[in-house]
Amino acid sequence: MSQNFDVVIVGAGIVGAACALECARAGLKTAIIEEGIVGGGATAAGMGHIVAMDDSDAQFALTRYSQQLWLHLKDELPEDVEFETTGTIWVAADEEEMIEVRRKQAYYSARRVPCEILDARALAEAEPNLRKGLAGGLLVPEDGVLYPPTAARWLWSLAQSCGATVIQGRVSAVSEVGFSLRDGSSFNPGITVVATGAWAPELDASLEIKKRKGHLAITDRYPGYVRHQLVELGYLKSAHSVTADSVAFNVQPRATGQILIGSSRQYGAEDTAIDRQMIRAMLARACEYMPDLAQKAVVRCWTGFRAATPDKLPLIGPSVKKPNMWFATGHEGLGITTSLGTAKLLVDQILGRKPAIPFEPYLPSRHSREHVYA
Ligand SMILES: Cc1cc2nc3c(=O)[nH]c(=O)nc-3n(C[C@H](O)[C@H](O)[C@H](O)COP(=O)(O)OP(=O)(O)OC[C@H]3O[C@@H](n4cnc5c(N)ncnc54)[C@H](O)[C@@H]3O)c2cc1C
Repeated sequence: MSQNFDVVIVGAGIVGAACALECARAGLKTAIIEEGIVGGGATAAGMGHIVAMDDSDAQFALTRYSQQLWLHLKDELPEDVEFETTGTIWVAADEEEMIEVRRKQAYYSARRVPCEILDARALAEAEPNLRKGLAGGLLVPEDGVLYPPTAARWLWSLAQSCGATVIQGRVSAVSEVGFSLRDGSSFNPGITVVATGAWAPELDASLEIKKRKGHLAITDRYPGYVRHQLVELGYLKSAHSVTADSVAFNVQPRATGQILIGSSRQYGAEDTAIDRQMIRAMLARACEYMPDLAQKAVVRCWTGFRAATPDKLPLIGPSVKKPNMWFATGHEGLGITTSLGTAKLLVDQILGRKPAIPFEPYLPSRHSREHVYA
């Protein structure tokens, strides 16, 4: 097998697939290595919410940029990617959360993201199955949903049609000069990109990435029951900001008419088994917001592992210690959204192109451990 690749990407989740496509399109001789099935990691477990998030300016810049890249592709996406601009409604339970609605509205509006404050009545009209008495919400109409595994497979097959090579195998080690597979073969490409999601620390133990387990449940078909991606505003308090186990109301309408129900977050859980207590808590939270959900049939539950960094931003760019080793990982709960922006920023850096947004906030060198121990 030829070993003179410019770039070899390890991991064919949605991030690796998007990076392979962008590299191949830029004329780089590209290969992608996957030990399992394309899009079978966290990508297969993800919710597929394409969302502009504002935990930090850097998070907003990457999510919004990426969301616009998805919107650009909208007409090209095959039907099985099930892309729909459903919009998000950030649901406010009370007046305290309405303060957050107004803050969010001001933030998005200042950055030209269309959004609209809904009062209690407008919220009830937009989503009649929400419980009565909620205070209101923020509608962000350009947010959307898609089905992540088919999106990854589509990106990967486009990469192949642009000349990318696919190698099946498990990378066991990455060094300054290249990497080796479990079968003993070794490769010395110009650049090795680690895009192995939550498994990235297996290839570089100094990475500050932790597995953050998530549960999801999907119902039978109830078309029209939910119209937008609905997320409780308490989500920001309960699911994002703390290190303890948490659940939050987060439901998504699927093109099939099913309702995808999330979400949970846990550190320290390494096995893929369903935690019944966690599922129970997650469904109970969903029923607090949509009481009739209790009458709906859940047909499947599953788990997946997000790759969490301490500052909730991904690692995109070269390693400090190993010049030929690059990263495209650590996307936590936003990797479906940010896959396209990640791929652009990666290739912009490789080729010295001017990026559409600054890439510095996502450089792996911002994390001190590489510096401290270098
Ligand atoms: C419950 C849940 C809900 C989520 N909801 C959303 C959402 O609504 N919106 C959103 O944007 N994101 C969401 N996410 C996050 C999103 O799913 C991830 O950020 C994204 O899928 C990460 O993609 P990835 O390509 O980096 O990793 P993965 O999809 O995990 O892919 C990594 C790949 O690398 C392969 N691999 C690992 N080690 C090796 C090795 N040594 N050699 C070869 N191959 C290897 C694996 O087999 C795997 O296929 C959610 C995640 C979870 C768990």
